[in-house]
Amino acid sequence: MLVQVQNIRKEYLLGKKTIPVLRSIDLQVDEGEFVSIMGPSGSGKSTLLHILGGLDTPDSGSYLFNGKNMLFLSDSERSWIRANQIGFVFQTFDLLSELNVVENIRLPFFYNRFDPTLQKELVDQAIEKVGLTHRRNHRPVELSGGEMQRVAIARALVVNPKLILADEPTGNLDSSNSSEILSIFRELHCDDTTIIMVTHDQKVADLSQKTYEILDGILI
Ligand code: ADP
Ligand code: MG
Repeated sequence: MLVQVQNIRKEYLLGKKTIPVLRSIDLQVDEGEFVSIMGPSGSGKSTLLHILGGLDTPDSGSYLFNGKNMLFLSDSERSWIRANQIGFVFQTFDLLSELNVVENIRLPFFYNRFDPTLQKELVDQAIEKVGLTHRRNHRPVELSGGEMQRVAIARALVVNPKLILADEPTGNLDSSNSSEILSIFRELHCDDTTIIMVTHDQKVADLSQKTYEILDGILI
């Protein structure tokens, strides 16, 4: 079991009011599984994904990632897991505009002391996986939305993470770019990468093995 979440609760304080977002989330994801999470806007999907990625902490509950208790790790252990074992893909791509494709994909190595030859190999593999070898030296402004998202996926993949977390990765794309991105996720799934994807798109959900919905702070 790669992800084991039990009874996670998260609320936000807005002035004097508390807004319960996640009331009691239970989620188990096996290695190699492709899971999608749906739910109305504001239902807590991104909040949950941030907790799974160690970017945010819940108010209570437990979370084991790869057998490690994520909620009781030191900052440096958590950072190491974030940098080496978890890849993020966001709706807005989040590329650095002054860097070209190769440089954007190489960014995770900023936190990792990989051997330079190995780095180069991993970057080349990731570029090839997303089919952007012919765009290596382009900057984000010179790319289509689908290509930018492919760069973001390559960046998430480059360290060979155990888990890919994707937050509405096709939310800003038209249907042809979306299906391009989805076919990459389908291939990743075939390669046994574990994927948890938040989406509004039923077509995306259909690709995954399990679909959950967040409703009133509970995953069903
Ligand atoms: P989703 O991704 O499903 O649209 P989010 O997880 O982004 O939902 O947000 C869930 C709820 O939590 C929303 O009502 C949002 O306004 C609120 N929220 C998210 N982040 C914060 C924050 N940092 N402070 C206060 N409220 C927040
Ligand atoms: Mg969101």
